[in-house]
Amino acid sequence: MRISDDRYRRERWALELALRFLRHEARTQTIRAWTGLSDDRIRKLYRSYMSHARRYLPRHRGKSPHQIAYFTRSLRMQEETAVLASVLSLLGVVPASAGAATPVAVPGLGRGELLCQAFEAYRLLLPAAQISFEHAVFLTTVLTRGDQLRLGGCSDCGGLLVTERFPLRDRRCHQCASPVQPR
Ligand SMILES: [Zn+2]
Repeated sequence: MRISDDRYRRERWALELALRFLRHEARTQTIRAWTGLSDDRIRKLYRSYMSHARRYLPRHRGKSPHQIAYFTRSLRMQEETAVLASVLSLLGVVPASAGAATPVAVPGLGRGELLCQAFEAYRLLLPAAQISFEHAVFLTTVLTRGDQLRLGGCSDCGGLLVTERFPLRDRRCHQCASPVQPR
């Protein structure tokens, strides 16, 4: 009986997390990777949720985001990315510093829950933020791998910033790189 109780609890946990991902408009493949539920279960969950939902939840098709340039394409995106990365790091979803001895971070229910908490906190901090949940999942993957983007401190003020893996120059935040001209 105990085993089936545990299985039941785990199943419920997976469904609750899948629902939270759905509300953030995550793609089926993302939900599958983080909850272990089958595509069929996810589709059924979506249909039953939508049958009494108060707002329409769009379903996004096609590939999940995979371009790191998205995070560095403008000053605004760089700043949003730094805030999101900070929250992800504070909640332990991504390692605090690249190369830190951390266990292999894989998608899973506990980490998925923290990822949702981080994204929800980020949206509270920046209500007009542009980074979607799918991009937050992608950022989590990239920062965990540490091969393309990494989270580091500005070499002048120590403020957190997300930079490409091997910057040519010292890493400095926008404020330090272009100081305000004296009046
Ligand atoms: Zn700085």
